[in-house]
Amino acid sequence: MRCTFCEEKLLRPNMPPGSLIIIDPNEYAHKSCAEQAWVSRRMFGSVKMNSIPSNDLFELKQLLINEINLRDNLSSH
Ligand SMILES: [Zn+2]
Repeated sequence: MRCTFCEEKLLRPNMPPGSLIIIDPNEYAHKSCAEQAWVSRRMFGSVKMNSIPSNDLFELKQLLINEINLRDNLSSH
């Protein structure tokens, strides 16, 4: 079985646990390859980042910062 992204063999010697992910039931990938692909495709899940209008992107940024701060505050108490 081969990685969806780099097309090399999925199993490598001395591979740490959690290095593989399932894309769908018939597709597997190295976790590092998948993460690289998602970043270079500018995708978050099924959302194309470059399809988000700039105003919405700014609002999303604020929401993310607020959410991260909120979780940091909750976890520090
Ligand atoms: Zn790979």
